[in-house]
Amino acid sequence: MNAGRSLATKNTKMSGVGWFTFWCPRGRPDSIPARGGRSSCFLWPSLRPRIRILNPILLLGLGLLGAGCTAPSTGLVNLTAAKAAVVAYVDNGGYDRDLATVAAEARSWIEQRAARKGAGERLAVVVDIDETVLSSYPQMKAQDFGYVPEVWNAWVARGVAPAIAPMREVYLTARRLGVDVLFVTGRKDPRDRPGTEANLLRQGMSDYARLVLAPASDDFPTTAQRKAAQRAALAREGWMIIASIGDQDSDLAGGHAERTFKLPNPFYVIP
Ligand SMILES: [Mg+2]
Repeated sequence: MNAGRSLATKNTKMSGVGWFTFWCPRGRPDSIPARGGRSSCFLWPSLRPRIRILNPILLLGLGLLGAGCTAPSTGLVNLTAAKAAVVAYVDNGGYDRDLATVAAEARSWIEQRAARKGAGERLAVVVDIDETVLSSYPQMKAQDFGYVPEVWNAWVARGVAPAIAPMREVYLTARRLGVDVLFVTGRKDPRDRPGTEANLLRQGMSDYARLVLAPASDDFPTTAQRKAAQRAALAREGWMIIASIGDQDSDLAGGHAERTFKLPNPFYVIP
């Protein structure tokens, strides 16, 4: 018990709450609030005024009760559990199946639309890059799904991201049917252009008509607004954009495409 007190006291600098921390092992010391605040454990508010005067036997009983302390009812998803669920979704094939389903719908639409191409129409599909035609999963998993800009930029510069196979089939279908592919990505220009071009070449997607990156800085408050403006500019150049395909809602919002196709992305959100 003394060891427990020592451990608890060591783990929290708040005097008088060490026992509580010890006996509620799933509680995080840094989640215990300052005096007057609300606790992350449902037992805490009622026990706090009394805990200092309880004798060791009562504390032992409370400790046994505290062993059943559950995680706080915040409604939040536990981060470790969320990461595990994402890895399972990839490992069990669910992610690949969902990618393939959307890619098949996109391919079917491109085939239908190309078959009724109007005279003089210059058909194109606008396609995002990350988690759309290239997978960052090896990098994300290696980083335990953390994002460090310098590490990410180095990954892009290496140009070694694997293709998302069913989306490469979409790309090849479009090209076979004479439909231009216009990549529109949040990767930055000029920093990310060499690595991106090399990566697309390595993965067999090099005869695209345009690779539109994000400028190093712009005035668009959101990615969605920037990408919509970029599609509008491409349409003004004369392309009939028959499909926009991406893994983010922000890849697709704002119009300037006949159809949109949203791929799954359980890893991150870009507004
Ligand atoms: Mg993307």
